[in-house]
Amino acid sequence: MESAPVSCSLCGDVRDPSDPAALAWAGERDERGRDRWLCPGCTRRHTRDIEARLPVEWW
Ligand SMILES: [Zn+2]
Repeated sequence: MESAPVSCSLCGDVRDPSDPAALAWAGERDERGRDRWLCPGCTRRHTRDIEARLPVEWW
């Protein structure tokens, strides 16, 4: 089954599944249960923000 097109939630870049770089995209589920995707560039730029973010249960 084909998954829906994915775009970066920060810069809007669209993920191309046929591109090997697509494997480097980071997916996560936000507090509303929606999938959020970050392109490799944004993942690298925001690694510290992402890792520092506490899970919702800790708010
Ligand atoms: Zn991006």
